[in-house]
Amino acid sequence: MELPDYLPISYLNQLLYCERRFWYMYVLGELAVNAALLEGALRHEHADQPGTERIEEGRVVRRLAVFSDRLRINGFCDLVEEAGDVLRPVEYKRGKQGRWDNDQVQLCAQALCLEEQTGRPTLLGEIYYYRSRRRIEVLFTQELRARTEAAIRRAYALLEAGALPPHTRQRARCGECSIEPICLPKETEQLLTAERS
Ligand code: SF4
Repeated sequence: MELPDYLPISYLNQLLYCERRFWYMYVLGELAVNAALLEGALRHEHADQPGTERIEEGRVVRRLAVFSDRLRINGFCDLVEEAGDVLRPVEYKRGKQGRWDNDQVQLCAQALCLEEQTGRPTLLGEIYYYRSRRRIEVLFTQELRARTEAAIRRAYALLEAGALPPHTRQRARCGECSIEPICLPKETEQLLTAERS
């Protein structure tokens, strides 16, 4: 398949959750809207209003478009706090912090873009979880940066391979996945088991 010039950063989140989900959502454009996704979209409304505000320590920019030519990704920061030379991206999420690091990778990808675009170091960001009303700090460590770049390479490799990835082995994720009615992991497994026996 033809590779995109830039991969939208938000799809990294899907990729790390499940490669098959990434494929369905990005390649096939399937977006089964469940209650959780709808709530997430509504919650994003305020943060998604573009604009700049002055605050005591500097300024806040909402809905900032970012990109990286080196990594071939683009997207938006919900909010960027700027104090002197320091930039701090903030991402808004529905629910509470999950058990996986997909949100951190998505935020780190934004930080890598900001660094490339501004030449300024971006060492720390924050994720605000609406349901738990918690703001967690995310340090952009070398390890997280490496994981983020590996996820981007993996996304392009999957697109280049051009085949629907298998179901995730971490089946607990399927219960919370909006793609489940299309993906049918249980039914597929039953069919494969029947074929083998
Ligand atoms: S239902 Fe499970 S295997 Fe299918 S896309 Fe969702 S998480 Fe992946």
